[in-house]
Amino acid sequence: MPDTHTDVLVAGAGPAGLTLACELGLAGVRTTVLERDPAPPGFCRGFNLNARSLDLLEHRGLADRFLAEGPTLPATAFVGTAALDLAAMRTRHPYVLGIAQTRVEELLAERAEELGVRILRGHRLTGFREDGEGITADVTAPDGPLRLRCDWLAGCDGGRSTVRKAAGIAFPGTPARRFTLLGDVVPADPAALPFGPTAGPGGSVFAIPRPGYVRLVTAEPDPPEDRDEPVTPDRFQEVLDRALGRRVEIAEVRWLTRFGDAARLAERLRAGRVLLVGDAAHIHPPAGAVGVNAAIDDAMNLGWKLALVARGLAPERLLESYHRERHAAGARLLRDTRAQALLAAEGERLAPVRDLLGELATAEGTAGHVAETITGVNTRYPAHDEHGHPWEGRMIPGDGLLPAPARTGGGALLLDEAAAPAAVREAAASWNGRVTVTAVPSGRLPGTYAVLVRPDGHVGWVARPGAGAGAEAAGGAVRSALEWWFGPPAPLPVAG
Ligand SMILES: Cc1cc2nc3c(=O)[nH]c(=O)nc-3n(C[C@H](O)[C@H](O)[C@H](O)COP(=O)(O)OP(=O)(O)OC[C@H]3O[C@@H](n4cnc5c(N)ncnc54)[C@H](O)[C@@H]3O)c2cc1C
Repeated sequence: MPDTHTDVLVAGAGPAGLTLACELGLAGVRTTVLERDPAPPGFCRGFNLNARSLDLLEHRGLADRFLAEGPTLPATAFVGTAALDLAAMRTRHPYVLGIAQTRVEELLAERAEELGVRILRGHRLTGFREDGEGITADVTAPDGPLRLRCDWLAGCDGGRSTVRKAAGIAFPGTPARRFTLLGDVVPADPAALPFGPTAGPGGSVFAIPRPGYVRLVTAEPDPPEDRDEPVTPDRFQEVLDRALGRRVEIAEVRWLTRFGDAARLAERLRAGRVLLVGDAAHIHPPAGAVGVNAAIDDAMNLGWKLALVARGLAPERLLESYHRERHAAGARLLRDTRAQALLAAEGERLAPVRDLLGELATAEGTAGHVAETITGVNTRYPAHDEHGHPWEGRMIPGDGLLPAPARTGGGALLLDEAAAPAAVREAAASWNGRVTVTAVPSGRLPGTYAVLVRPDGHVGWVARPGAGAGAEAAGGAVRSALEWWFGPPAPLPVAG
């Protein structure tokens, strides 16, 4: 007999699992997060949030909490030779925020707990069974094995996802061919290695300053047969010295790891009651520093949809749009990170391509497109009933359109101008609680009179002025869009 029931069980308390938990908690869905590790790790992988994540967090009124944590920079390293001009992006946050992944996770965990989410650390999901009505999950916990029952299971458990494997979801792609060693270390002589790239006779070493230590990154041309073999201090010192052709004494080691350039995308992001999010759904070379951001992006796309389905308001069909939208985004993520990794690895042979891309990344006219693509700012999802309006499927642009500071806040918004037929507002009233009608000043919605903004800030539908005959057609069009995204209308109160 299962011990406990929860609406959604989330495996993994990384950026994906915690963001998803926040979204579900916000919607009042009973959510439990299982985290294998008893305590947060003593090391930190990522060190940034990009504009796309900040745009998404902005819709929950949370961007400022994160922005208070670190500096913002208007450019970031790109393909080794260039700086990506982030200031050219069309976003409220045209920069990259320097913030440790561990701090991002702390802030998300705090918020999830504020919203009533239960986070169980030291709990590892080992397997599950799905039946017609739900899922029974097997968990190892500090006090012994547990069985938990849930309606939905979200695999946010990283690249080696137990959930993905147990669900039998294929993970096609390319295996790792090149390996890199990363060392968070304190050199005996801090001046021995300048920050940035240093070329040596056996390779190059990239040094990045971190608070109290230096992150050193260098290729490992001869990885051991077992790629999971721990990197020892001696091994790291040996590879470092060989690359530089001289000894740079390491006085203290904080964290040593090895990573490869494998790139894989799960065949499906949903199988029945199971969903995959973040690294569980896609792994890619760390070039471009986007993994945390892609995990947040997936979770923000899924959260409101899963909440509606879990609450019985929307049909399961809505979850297929998660697969459609984020699988396509995952394919772009793999393309962009693989391209950057190849350019970084191929040395002289690809130097002209690096130069050319570097030029495009800073030139007026192309810089914005390159930066928006690499950071995901220009992500576009299919909208309902498209007719070519430039906002369709994109993040709603511009300040002043949405009520500050919460923006969509977790629900959807129907922005309408005074010129919109009253039938539009009347139709939306049946989705009260899921959709808020928000009046905007005349002329703020170019080429239309009403725009539907999904909870993740993407435009789900744009009214087509002049289409069909009058108020009835306008009401019908908005009803169709509302039902598509947010399920059937609330039943009318029974008279008498
Ligand atoms: C060296 C390195 C540097 C990186 N630098 C950056 C960077 O600068 N910027 C950036 O955006 N990205 C960076 N990344 C990528 C980023 O760290 C990942 O993409 C991101 O952590 C993915 O988030 P996630 O929540 O999907 O998975 P994870 O962060 O891996 O979280 C998964 C969680 O699930 C838990 N778990 C696993 N199995 C189970 C189980 N069976 N039961 C319960 N819990 C389980 C794990 O303990 C973990 O806490 C870097 C990656 C590496 C390796």
